[in-house]
Amino acid sequence: MAAYRVKIRDCDAVACGYRCQEACPHGVFLAVPRTRNRARHAAEPRYRVVPRFAAFCDGCGECVRVCAADAITVLAPGGAAVRVP
Ligand code: SF4
Ligand code: SF4
Repeated sequence: MAAYRVKIRDCDAVACGYRCQEACPHGVFLAVPRTRNRARHAAEPRYRVVPRFAAFCDGCGECVRVCAADAITVLAPGGAAVRVP
C-alpha cells in the first residue's frame, strides 16, 4: 500500500504548543531538540517535531489544519497535497 508523506518545513514546537502532536490521531509526530540548540539544551529547551511515524498517516489533514506556522505538508500517494478547509 502506498503511503502518505509528511513534510515539516520549520517549526518551533514550544511556541506553538505541539498542536500537531495533540491533533494527530495516529501519533505520527515526535518532538526532538532543535539541532542548533542541542549543546545548550538544558538551559534553553527548544524543540521541533518530526514526522517520525509517517507510515501510520491516513491523510486526515488535522495536522495541516492546526499548524499556525503553516509548516506541514501532507502528500497523498499520488503526490497531491492534502488540503483542509
Ligand atoms: S494527516 Fe492526519 S494522520 Fe497524517 S500526520 Fe496529519 S494528523 Fe496525523
Ligand atoms: S503544529 Fe506546526 S508549528 Fe506546531 S509543532 Fe506542529 S509543525 Fe510545529
